[in-house]
Amino acid sequence: MIIAEQKPIPRIVEMLEGHKSMLVVGCRSCVAICLAGGEKEVSILSEALRIESDLKGNGWQVDEVTLERACEKEWVGEMREKVSGHDAIISLACGVGAQVMQELYPDVRVLPGLDTSNMGAPEEQGIYLEKCGGCGDCVLHLTGGICPIARCSKSLLNGPCGGSQNGKCEIDPDVPCGWDQIYHSLERIGRLDLMEVPIPPKDWRRSRSGGPRKIVRKEAVLTPEEKSARGAR
Ligand code: SF4
Ligand code: SF4
Repeated sequence: MIIAEQKPIPRIVEMLEGHKSMLVVGCRSCVAICLAGGEKEVSILSEALRIESDLKGNGWQVDEVTLERACEKEWVGEMREKVSGHDAIISLACGVGAQVMQELYPDVRVLPGLDTSNMGAPEEQGIYLEKCGGCGDCVLHLTGGICPIARCSKSLLNGPCGGSQNGKCEIDPDVPCGWDQIYHSLERIGRLDLMEVPIPPKDWRRSRSGGPRKIVRKEAVLTPEEKSARGAR
């Protein structure tokens, strides 16, 4: 899932300068699970902005809506009536959702209410850990199911480095060494032999280093006839 956290309210207020009518938009998917942009957070932020407006006499109109998934045009398109009449959208979706909103409502300014951080998973209630760096060329089969890109501070493909001490990373004694975790995982599954096999250099063009990526699933691409049939419906 995508992990994000809400910007401090003073920073959101700063972004609202010059705006009078705003729609706070949340998402019920990843950002709801990481307690950053679900229905509850939308409601709390909206109320905070109304209080700010009352205190400062801003005269803001603050409305709210939470979408099923803000990264899909179909869901974002469903809020068209709600968007109407607002001069700003405060997105409590991840950076992807915010961009889909801007694409669909190009005449309204979309402001990011969240800072999108990484692809990770909840470790326990309220604690989220980055798990995947989206490198586009997965090597988990060689590393005991633990990502060397996201979980080693240097993204080493052949670790550990000399800074690994007592299972911790040299950057911080509270940060586990990703390669120590890889070693123990390989040990548990009886594949320590893989520690001896060098992982060859990755094709980083498949990562962010190669520019914006696009995945095309040929079997799912609509023919021009199918597109026009859908448009006609
Ligand atoms: S190796 Fe790449 S694709 Fe696999 S988990 Fe790590 S960053 Fe993600
Ligand atoms: S100590 Fe471990 S996690 Fe930290 S940079 Fe070295 S190999 Fe990577």
